[in-house]
Amino acid sequence: MAWQKINGRHHLPWQNTQDPYRVWLSEIMLQQTQVSTVLGYYAKFLEQFPTVAHLAQAPQDHVMGLWSGLGYYSRARNLHLCAQQVMSRFGGQFPKTSQELMTLPGIGRSTAAAVASFCFSERVAIMDGNVKRVLTRLWAYEADLSVSQNEKTLWQMAEAALPTRHLKTAMPRYSQAIMDLGASVCLPRKPLCAKCPVRNECKAYGLGEPEKFPVKTRKLKRTSEVLWLLLAQNNQGEVWLEKRPAKGIWASLYCLPVFATEDLLLDALRPDGVKKPSHTKGHLSDTPIEMLAPFKHVLTHKDLHCHVAKVVLQQVPHLPASQQAGAWWTGKDWEKLGLPQPVRHLLSNSL
Ligand code: SF4
Repeated sequence: MAWQKINGRHHLPWQNTQDPYRVWLSEIMLQQTQVSTVLGYYAKFLEQFPTVAHLAQAPQDHVMGLWSGLGYYSRARNLHLCAQQVMSRFGGQFPKTSQELMTLPGIGRSTAAAVASFCFSERVAIMDGNVKRVLTRLWAYEADLSVSQNEKTLWQMAEAALPTRHLKTAMPRYSQAIMDLGASVCLPRKPLCAKCPVRNECKAYGLGEPEKFPVKTRKLKRTSEVLWLLLAQNNQGEVWLEKRPAKGIWASLYCLPVFATEDLLLDALRPDGVKKPSHTKGHLSDTPIEMLAPFKHVLTHKDLHCHVAKVVLQQVPHLPASQQAGAWWTGKDWEKLGLPQPVRHLLSNSL
């Protein structure tokens, strides 16, 4: 904690506040995402939604649009749901205990501990990637963290090591210290042990092999999938986008129509009378199809191999607003939507 006072990070915009809304927002954004990327999004969100009430009231499309580019979109959906539940279940005030915080959508044990320790000085341990690295090295904890029981044991050890006195000031400082140590000194590769305040107690350092920890054997099994995307424009230059289902790849984002095979995409372009998905009602067959260069998009567990067929339609599909799964969007409007990053990139470069 003494090290944190002098050497820790003090100027991040979500520090020096005990406002749970701000701390929670930053914690959700920082999951799987670098600080430098989060900074701009955090500022934008606070400007648009200065309080949890503003966020709860916002249309989902507005929230997804602002989140666009941060990735892991289930975080944005849960963020919105969580804000709504803070309003409906807790009268607009975040609950003050980690146990209650964990009942909200998108708040796991570590995020709950971060909010509760930073804002309410609760004696609970954070366990994000940085903290796991510091603690497994400090104690040369060799058990495989891909086994959940081992992670639980580490968590218990972490709780036992928390401050026991002056919790009001000690807990926020301690949580920040261990996070800062992991982010700036105990780095995944080439940790800066010479600068480390716990070097003398660190068992991994003593063993001369800090990078051996944490031990995690189970690798993510990667899969791949081929997608066929239809980039349809009308003769006013607008593009057809539809909202993806709430589950699956790019859930709840706006997207080009997606097909599992080339045949299904071509079916959608055949003259009337041939089976066509509902979102391609209209005459799509009377213009040439241009196949754009295929590209690969890498998700955490999956490689997406995307093929894109570009067509210009002579007729605008006539779908009643209440039934349509999609709509025509102009450049001015689609840029504000929540779009998968590769689709945004494609539209920016192909229209
Ligand atoms: Fe990490 Fe090195 Fe410090 Fe140990 S001494 S906690 S390995 S930076």
